[in-house]
Amino acid sequence: MTEPTHLTSEQLEPIVAALHRRETYAAAGAGILVPPFPDCPTCGQAPTELVVRNDHPATFLEDKVAFGFRPCGHTFTADGEDLYRTYETARQQEGR
Ligand SMILES: [Zn+2]
Repeated sequence: MTEPTHLTSEQLEPIVAALHRRETYAAAGAGILVPPFPDCPTCGQAPTELVVRNDHPATFLEDKVAFGFRPCGHTFTADGEDLYRTYETARQQEGR
């Protein structure tokens, strides 16, 4: 098991944008037309599954979110604040 790689907000942006796009399409009932997951930033492999979890849901001081790409197994962490900001940006960009 390797240590998770920490993502800066710039690295986080394309991932969050892709996840947001998927949510939007899924909510609209796009079914199989839902856009693919973003490629793994480490190996560039297109994941079949992307696991998102919050390691410390009870503490605001350690507000970190982990992304696990499957099947390559690379994991990444991001600050909750960065995640929130990039998500808001993605939302606004598609809200036009
Ligand atoms: Zn990978």
